[in-house]
Amino acid sequence: MKYDIVIIGAGQAGLSFACSMADSNQSILVVEKRSLELIANPQPDGREIALTHLSMSILKKIGAWGLIDENKISPLKEARVYDGDSTSSLNFRSPNPSDDLGCLIPNNLICKALYEKASSFGGIDIVTDVSVDDIVRHHDLAQIHLSNKQQIEAKLVIAADSRFSDMRRKMGIPALMRDFSKVMILTEMNHDKPHHNTALECFHYGRTLALLPMVGNTSSIVMTVATDKVDDVMAMSVKSFNKEIEQAFHGRFGRMEQQGERRSYPLIATYSQTFISSRFALIGDAAVGMHPVTAHGSNLGLRGQDILADTLKDAIKNNQDIGAISTLKRYESKQIHITRLMYFGTNSVVTLFTNDAPVVKTIRKAVLKIAQHFPPIKQLISRQLTNTNNKLLPF
Ligand SMILES: Cc1cc2nc3c(=O)[nH]c(=O)nc-3n(C[C@H](O)[C@H](O)[C@H](O)COP(=O)(O)OP(=O)(O)OC[C@H]3O[C@@H](n4cnc5c(N)ncnc54)[C@H](O)[C@@H]3O)c2cc1C
Repeated sequence: MKYDIVIIGAGQAGLSFACSMADSNQSILVVEKRSLELIANPQPDGREIALTHLSMSILKKIGAWGLIDENKISPLKEARVYDGDSTSSLNFRSPNPSDDLGCLIPNNLICKALYEKASSFGGIDIVTDVSVDDIVRHHDLAQIHLSNKQQIEAKLVIAADSRFSDMRRKMGIPALMRDFSKVMILTEMNHDKPHHNTALECFHYGRTLALLPMVGNTSSIVMTVATDKVDDVMAMSVKSFNKEIEQAFHGRFGRMEQQGERRSYPLIATYSQTFISSRFALIGDAAVGMHPVTAHGSNLGLRGQDILADTLKDAIKNNQDIGAISTLKRYESKQIHITRLMYFGTNSVVTLFTNDAPVVKTIRKAVLKIAQHFPPIKQLISRQLTNTNNKLLPF
């Protein structure tokens, strides 16, 4: 069987890229190892995805935005960063006072909308319950070997197969990997008092606690703890957990009650040395697997696939080979610099704000103070968060 493009992975990156290419007249196959049920009806996984304005506009452009239940979209008006037990904070609002910083949407709703949209296009085939086992590249095509023993030929293979991408490794592309030895524990909580659509990031000593405002008096609570403390937190009774979180926020939300389950995500960030090879490109987490603290994984993934799709459409218009390195290089050069800054910038923030050595505590207090009292820095970060210019800033 032959396709122009084979996409490995039907997560946010793979499906959004398929949608972006739907009007390119190319035949597209998406191969996903999970079941159709999991892809078509993804269940809540605890992730509330903070989307920038650029990401929202990309979802609108590909027709997926309108498929997300608007009653589940929570506007993000402000973000506050606290350090230690200090009651003063570094506050961010949109540079444009009438704008929100962005919005929060449950991850499963974004994935569901993307599947619904991608599967509605005639030129896109999606096969599930099948994994890609290997790729063999020749001068003018790639052969894709599937777990059901089928072989597919394509001009270009796109790997959107997660931060632990097997295909990246098989193509001989090295990746940096940073294991933070920490775990994020997420759960939804109802509370008596309103959150005013303000996200809180509290870098308490020993652990980090974040509150992401959902619709109504409900928030996603995100606790980051060292790996050796995870079992204790996961085993806590709901009553003790509620009490602990209420106290950690100094009672500002009144009574808080856990809804549903607690879920845990180990924190391992990855960065691919290159995003391209002959007849092959990486997108989404397979290219850059961000630490979630700055909420940029999906945002960079959406941005990257949009750039790649524009690059390929341009090549098609000019009768160029979509799998040639010279074509793919144009995608990489637009995406790699920004992601590199975001990746290493985020890792530095994590190092600074989770190291409790006395000298580091002093430095971070100073950093927050300077940022709070120096408007240009705040504006720079706010614009970075909102991404209103449809550009990331040149840090
Ligand atoms: C706790 C948490 C909170 C987050 N919050 C935010 C946020 O607020 N804002 C933000 O922008 N980002 C956030 N992110 C990041 C975001 O969730 C990810 O960046 C995004 O989901 C990655 O999508 P992806 O499609 O690249 O990869 P994935 O979702 O990992 O999808 C990869 C797909 O490939 C499939 N696959 C793998 N190997 C094969 C194979 N060989 N053959 C076939 N299929 C294969 C897998 O089954 C999977 O479906 C968060 C992440 C976490 C963990």
